[in-house]
Amino acid sequence: MKHKTMAQFKALPPGSTIGIIGNGQLGRMTALAAARLGYACHVFGPDADSPAEQVAFRATVAAYDDKDALVEFAKSVDVVTFEFENIPHESVQLLTKHVEVRPGWNCLQISQDRLIEKTFINDCGIDTAPFKAVDSLADLEAAVEELGRPSILKTTRMGYDGKGQALIRPETDLETAYDSMAGAPSVLEGFVEFQREISVIVARSACGQWTAFEPAENVHADGILDTSSVPAHIPDGLVEEAVRIAVTLAEKMDIIGLLAVEMFHTKDDRLIVNEVAPRPHNSGHWTQDACYSDQFEQFVRAVCGLPLGSVERRNDLVMKNLIGFDVEKWPDYLNEPNAKLHLYGKASTRRGRKMGHVNLVYPLGELLKSKKA
Ligand code: AMP
Repeated sequence: MKHKTMAQFKALPPGSTIGIIGNGQLGRMTALAAARLGYACHVFGPDADSPAEQVAFRATVAAYDDKDALVEFAKSVDVVTFEFENIPHESVQLLTKHVEVRPGWNCLQISQDRLIEKTFINDCGIDTAPFKAVDSLADLEAAVEELGRPSILKTTRMGYDGKGQALIRPETDLETAYDSMAGAPSVLEGFVEFQREISVIVARSACGQWTAFEPAENVHADGILDTSSVPAHIPDGLVEEAVRIAVTLAEKMDIIGLLAVEMFHTKDDRLIVNEVAPRPHNSGHWTQDACYSDQFEQFVRAVCGLPLGSVERRNDLVMKNLIGFDVEKWPDYLNEPNAKLHLYGKASTRRGRKMGHVNLVYPLGELLKSKKA
């Protein structure tokens, strides 16, 4: 596709209103970054007193399929984007009738469904884990026969933070595993023996300009991201390869905004894409305290058609998620000189709920040294 030049694309100037679908912490941090650049945000989501609502200029509390509320919302903003991608197609179509929506439906559709996503990624010439669609117990039996054990059964839609997944171990009863998907269309994935997990976040603006943050190394606990660290401990050649993969996918999806690409670094030094998300991502929170223009600012710049900022990293960093009652340690972090605390304003603490994160900042080169020592 031919890129528009900056002159052909009319940038939305500061003072404009950005509509954000979703009102969680990603919307909150986007609204804060937008405010710093002089934009107002109108957030839309089903929960009252949400993290985003607390800091936004305006909030609509309504279901993602509330047509009247969506039209009102669309008319009140200059552009619409998403911090949450699982919204119905009809709602996106409706918004598109009234206002520019970035990124468009094609990006959301790909990331909403693991089967479409993996097929798309493979069609771009990029590897994923081997996979098979599973719509019946017989499909599961045949898929396990082909992909072997261990393997992972996942619902194709609405899965995040390890939800809607079942590990098929040597001893797992397939009927029980199939039943745990509650009849939802699923996909069986071959188990990837990885050395580590990494992710790359690409910003791509309306005129085709892109920037990529360097890969972060991610550690999960119970299926939820626990830490993201920079630099990632991968060979130099793989840093370039990870960026190439992420930029290729962002371009093929014609992303306007952000694309987060999660990858496995395999034991034989290959990169395999796990999943993509067309929005800010938890594994990009490190950028807030390491880069001049963090992922949220890049997101705002990309969606508004502004020039993208610098993604140069100024320091090493470990981002630690504060999940559930971890958040009670917040006073300790305030006493650590290298810790930058980010809390999401959630009223009630629950097990497994993302309550905040802390960015632990180290001098450039320090984390690489400590790893080698
Ligand atoms: P997901 O919801 O697909 O991102 O999966 C959550 C986490 O489960 C990943 O970040 C990995 O740690 C692990 N995982 C998912 N799929 C696979 C796979 N095919 N092989 C090995 N580990 C996986």
